[in-house]
Amino acid sequence: MNLHEYQGKEILNSFGVRIQRGIVANNHKEAVDAAKQLTTETGTSWYVVKAQVHAGGRGKGGGVKLAKNLAEVETISNDIIGMMLVTPQTSAEGKKVNQVLICEDVYYPGESETEEFYMSVLLNRNTGRNMIMYSTEGGMDIETVAEETPHLIFTEEIDPTMGLLPFQARKIAFNLGLSGGAMKEMVKFVTALYTAYVKSDSSLFEINPVLKTSDDKILAVDAKVTLDDNALYRHKDYAQLRDLREENPIEVEANAAGLNYVDLDGNVGCMVNGAGLAMGTMDLIKQAGGDPANFLDVGGTADAQRVETAFGIILKDPAVKAILVNIFGGIVRCDRVAQGVVDAYKNMGDKINVPIICRLQGTNAKEAKELIDNSGMEIISATEFQEAADKVQEVLAL
Ligand code: GDP
Ligand code: MN
Repeated sequence: MNLHEYQGKEILNSFGVRIQRGIVANNHKEAVDAAKQLTTETGTSWYVVKAQVHAGGRGKGGGVKLAKNLAEVETISNDIIGMMLVTPQTSAEGKKVNQVLICEDVYYPGESETEEFYMSVLLNRNTGRNMIMYSTEGGMDIETVAEETPHLIFTEEIDPTMGLLPFQARKIAFNLGLSGGAMKEMVKFVTALYTAYVKSDSSLFEINPVLKTSDDKILAVDAKVTLDDNALYRHKDYAQLRDLREENPIEVEANAAGLNYVDLDGNVGCMVNGAGLAMGTMDLIKQAGGDPANFLDVGGTADAQRVETAFGIILKDPAVKAILVNIFGGIVRCDRVAQGVVDAYKNMGDKINVPIICRLQGTNAKEAKELIDNSGMEIISATEFQEAADKVQEVLAL
């Protein structure tokens, strides 16, 4: 589960990680109040208005702006809230901005001694260990650094039985070129950051930039936090941080209906029972020259109601030009599923406007095929996996 910057920063702060202070606002009035409150609390007179969307590169898209007084906070917030923000990480149409974070300005104007670093905490799946990845090249996108100057990216792996050791935190501060007070601050920062990562059950922290101010404070100016969904049961208070407006609406609806659905870019809708078979089906569609529009596991009980719900979800994606139903009847009998497909088709009538290729294999497969062939519906039946994928390509070519 991805979080907004302001939510991620609140979690960091709760574990003692120093952050750039900010207050979230839903409209320009709240933005001005937030700015006034920040001035009271921090003494800042300049502010940064930051669009809150689940996408990076906001600065490049015009979603992060400096405001030098309250009037500017008001006009900039008014401009940003409601805009479609396009960044290198969004689609061409962009993401709607519903909220802004009003932050204290931490780059103290006129001073050049600030330094921006990059730091992330994540799981190295090859070694099964957490690692801290960091670089002196903060503020710019890390993919470019990795491509052009890979020697400027460092990693530190953490032994899960020991946790982050003090010498490792010092090494990180040293490699970032810090000494004296700044070094001590960085050691504290890294230590708190790693504790926060572990205790919050996160799967990614990306802090870009980590800032060293001219008075040697180290703080998180940005925060991309991804929580591990499977650990949310341990953090009841985090579950409410989900912002459904940021998620794919079809996926949200499918999940609410208990279907395992992931939206993809292709045009062949897939309805499959079992995650493994669903993966195999996507592979075979690709091999036959097609492109899957989704991953969909309808689960074991593929009855008419479920099949109908699944068809409805698949057809919400306007890119879908054909649907491949690939069901293996193990515990569930194929003829029951076939009846489900036929009933769903009847119920949905005109709503089904693309060809359906149906392959049922396993218990009572023969009866199932007869049921489909005799249903009078325009459902193309197939017995073999390859045959089904080829038939999909045939109907797409028409
Ligand atoms: P991103 O573009 O989505 O990664 O958003 P960031 O939170 O990283 O902000 C983008 C850029 O805005 C940062 O790299 C900074 O250069 C700049 N920025 C952020 N906070 C401040 C601030 O307090 N003062 C000034 N002058 N610039 C800031
Ligand atoms: Mn950033």
